[in-house]
Amino acid sequence: MPTQLQIAKTGTITDEVKLVAQTENVDAELVRAELSAGRLVIPANKLHLKTNLRAIGIGRILATKVNANIGTSSVSSSAEAEIEKMKVAISAGADTIMDLSTGGNLDEIREKLLAQCPAPFGTVPIYEVIQGREVEDIDCQIILETIEKQAKQGVDFFTVHAGVLKEHLPLLETRVGGIVSRGGALLAKWMLYHNRQNPLYEMFDDLCGIMAEYDICFSLGDGLRPGCIADATDQAQIAELKTQGELTQRARQKGCQVMVEGPGHIPFDQIKYNMEIGLQICHDAPFYVLGPVVTDIAPGYDHITSAIGGTAAAFYGASFLCYVTPKEHLGLPNADDVRAGVIATKIAAHAADVARGLKGAAERDRNLSIARFNLDWETHLAESLDPQTAERMHREACKEIGEDKLSSADYCSMCGRQWCSVRINKEIRENIKNK
Ligand code: SF4
Repeated sequence: MPTQLQIAKTGTITDEVKLVAQTENVDAELVRAELSAGRLVIPANKLHLKTNLRAIGIGRILATKVNANIGTSSVSSSAEAEIEKMKVAISAGADTIMDLSTGGNLDEIREKLLAQCPAPFGTVPIYEVIQGREVEDIDCQIILETIEKQAKQGVDFFTVHAGVLKEHLPLLETRVGGIVSRGGALLAKWMLYHNRQNPLYEMFDDLCGIMAEYDICFSLGDGLRPGCIADATDQAQIAELKTQGELTQRARQKGCQVMVEGPGHIPFDQIKYNMEIGLQICHDAPFYVLGPVVTDIAPGYDHITSAIGGTAAAFYGASFLCYVTPKEHLGLPNADDVRAGVIATKIAAHAADVARGLKGAAERDRNLSIARFNLDWETHLAESLDPQTAERMHREACKEIGEDKLSSADYCSMCGRQWCSVRINKEIRENIKNK
């Protein structure tokens, strides 16, 4: 069975391509052509498609997509809590889910999550390879077996840190933060212990065989991404990016779909350059950025620092934003943190889509604005990105002005009736109309 990429190259439009085109109101032939060129991916494991997956596309001709990471750790490992977080993330608008579990029974957690996940589902298989083992003890066979097992479970995209090479490691010496990627750090430890090349790089062709068999999309991990703005765009990051570019070509030649993961912590003024070289070096593969966080001094608010960076990244070239929650750098997010992270990243993605003129993106803004200026509170709240929060806040404010029905208020507690410019404008417009 060929992959979506291989089918697209024959000129055929698959059901998944049709669905992506319909969902996003774009031409199916354009989706196929972008997929064929590698500029768009449809992460859809053939087995997940047979159960509950609804295919989505990731690429510059489409709306910017948002990923939510969930997953257990060694100190918090309840499958039920992760299922709840996944549901919260999807209901808040996450387009994909990544299970980054490292604690508890990983197979059981993954299977339970996948059974209830209609969105593309990603993992970092090296986490499972390492669970319960010393990193020095892993070998190629264990890695391939784990990847094949997860493929059979229906995972749609794998983060694979195959771009971190042994020769990159001396470049880290001058860094403030070293390696902040868990996968990158573990593989670096293995390489130094065995004095050998990254096993994921060495057996990349074997990996491609498994990925192509199930049509799993590569997410070429950025194990050397900068973990603080002082390390941004340094030699180690760029060296890995070049290897990611080489691997992108190799994977495509084997029929695999590829996304490329990018930084990280990047000052705002370096984001444009990072997106441009990311796309150029990696042959226009959809760029999947983790943030980027634009300042390091806001623990507790990194959903905001990353949303600032996310808008710039999506404006300048990224197709896919990984959310960051307020708990980033501080602890495992709970369901409320997940929700806050998804909403912040949806705002970032949408703001970029409006700014880059994506067809139809500003329509929702226009609808909300019309409702706002008509004092049509119900439509105003319903059109918002987070109606639940908007409605709660407005109800609280209505109480302050003695209104119990949302639709009856012709001003709000922010300015008060006499100072409500929206209400006054409504009167002015009516006056003009009646003259
Ligand atoms: S009172 Fe102020 S904030 Fe509230 S609707 Fe009127 S103009 Fe807007």
